[in-house]
Amino acid sequence: MPVLLNVQRALLAFRNWCRMITRSPANVQTNTIATRDEPALGWQTQLAQAIRDPRELCRRVGLEPSWLAGAERGHALFEVRVPEAYLQRIRPGDPQDPLLRQVLPRHVEDDTVAGFITDPLDEATQTPRQGVIHKYHGRVLLIASPACAINCRYCFRRHFPYQENSPSRAQWRDSLAYLRRDDSIREAILSGGDPLAANDRQLSWLVEQLADIPHLRRLRIHTRLPVVIPDRVDDALLDWLARTRLQTVVVLHINHANEIDDAVITACARLKALGVTLLNQSVLLHDINDSVDDLEALSERLFNAGILPYYLHVLDPVSGAAHFNVSDDGARRLIDELRTRLPGFLMPRLVREIPGEASKTAL
Ligand SMILES: *Cc1c(COP(=O)(O)O)cnc(C)c1O
Ligand code: SF4
Repeated sequence: MPVLLNVQRALLAFRNWCRMITRSPANVQTNTIATRDEPALGWQTQLAQAIRDPRELCRRVGLEPSWLAGAERGHALFEVRVPEAYLQRIRPGDPQDPLLRQVLPRHVEDDTVAGFITDPLDEATQTPRQGVIHKYHGRVLLIASPACAINCRYCFRRHFPYQENSPSRAQWRDSLAYLRRDDSIREAILSGGDPLAANDRQLSWLVEQLADIPHLRRLRIHTRLPVVIPDRVDDALLDWLARTRLQTVVVLHINHANEIDDAVITACARLKALGVTLLNQSVLLHDINDSVDDLEALSERLFNAGILPYYLHVLDPVSGAAHFNVSDDGARRLIDELRTRLPGFLMPRLVREIPGEASKTAL
């Protein structure tokens, strides 16, 4: 018996050592004897099984039947998508839940509101290559995946022609050539959709190609996946992230403190263990996070998870999302009061994206 135990201990020690030298972040886990919990379902399965039916969404969150017609109407404009791991953080039976409001389609999405249009950022005219958006000096945005793990009702890309912007490998080579030719580009930003909706084989290939461009210094990944399906931060992802020479920044997208549960904190810890810088951007959303208390709680909770607030965007005026809008004056008042409550490093920068400007514009 003791011999057997020793053998088991030796095996465990060996496995832990292997993990350490492969820079797998298993060593950031608590050091119980149990092997690291593998998720019951891989992230791709969780994504495939996400709720895509407005009726099912209403049923699962315990909404009154009166919400269904609106949910179906909005769904016809921009389909419902909510993975189980996100659904778990929604309070059942509460139509005011700040997470539910981000994903539940409503009648008002069908309203036409002056100034709210389908391509508010004019991205259709800023695409030098398919899947490449080059607006700002020194950084280029690459659409690495057309898909998202969740469909956020306020999304400025709800009308974006994703299909036309899902490049093949040959198109990628063309995009990479564009980056290689311009040595003012220091940073490649993977965006989407959600870039982490692409599989790790593709991402690993792409990041290797990027790292091969001498003037590129940084890789930035704008993603909501580690928040929506925390199991996305798995060994395969950490493997290619650990290998790249590029300094890596992950910009998460979290709008409310309730989105950060223990699984999100664990996913963030794994990324941080590789030296990844974690930032967050939020969108200021009416009746979701437009109170000083909500914004304060969000910043505190972000820091708790090792993430620094980066941007607080005012809503892009996309048609179907006008009901989420907060006025500029209201936004400034919120930020001014927030500043009296938080240390400077927990203050997000309030910005707007104006087509044609050389950077985001501070409000
Ligand atoms: C927002 C954005 C960036 C990044 O801007 P930062 O201010 O560096 O965060 C880069 N490219 C495009 C097209 C963008 O929309
Ligand atoms: S994850 Fe981002 S890109 Fe995708 S729907 Fe939500 S806001 Fe839009």
